[in-house]
Amino acid sequence: MKHINIAIDGPSGAGKSTAAKAVAAKLGIIYLDTGAMYRAVAYYALAHGVDPLDGKAVEGILDDIEMNIVYRDGTQEILVCGENVTPYLREAHMSKAASDISAHPAVRLKLVELQRKFARENDVVLDGRDIGTYVLPDASCKIFLTADTAERAKRRWLELAEKGNKQSQEEVRADIEKRDYNDSHRAFAPLKQADDAVLVDTTDMTIEQVVARVVELAEKSANKETEL
Ligand code: C5P
Repeated sequence: MKHINIAIDGPSGAGKSTAAKAVAAKLGIIYLDTGAMYRAVAYYALAHGVDPLDGKAVEGILDDIEMNIVYRDGTQEILVCGENVTPYLREAHMSKAASDISAHPAVRLKLVELQRKFARENDVVLDGRDIGTYVLPDASCKIFLTADTAERAKRRWLELAEKGNKQSQEEVRADIEKRDYNDSHRAFAPLKQADDAVLVDTTDMTIEQVVARVVELAEKSANKETEL
């Protein structure tokens, strides 16, 4: 039986993970945060003194990275060589390291293989940058979430401030702009809206409205799948 695969792509701070988690809970399916997988590779590289920008050195450690995704109380955890690295992945410097490391094709090929296997075996909503365009071009539902840069920077700044991060809103905005540029200009599987993805601009939407819209789109496509 073909599994439900919902792809949510878009730049950072557009509301992807909040929406994806809510959709997964509503439909009773799994949520796979693919950004966390790139962050986990970045974490491993930094922990082993490897510069995320150094493609050759990064390729040299890839085979050592044994990654497992597990769910504890419904929450995703990433184990790298048996160590739960999840608590370290959301730190601000890890975002840049993840963006740098994600540009290397060898890194993407390794993680895309895991993501495709996951999607073949489970009903899942995945969020990322290239799910609809590259990882799962046949996904049953594709959504591209975006928002003005200023609004996305404000959301990310609030999220980081709540965790005690002292960066100014301008610094957070500069980081986001740099990361968006990197992500949409890399040669291999860049951030891009798939031709058949539904665009949702969340700039003037509350998070509740975003969740409701994404759930509506996902349910519509899940119903269409079961009718076929
Ligand atoms: O979504 P998140 O901010 O956690 O992603 C961290 C970084 O991982 C992104 O800036 C992007 O460079 C990379 N990424 C990617 N492809 C994905 C998911 C994330 O290149 N499918």
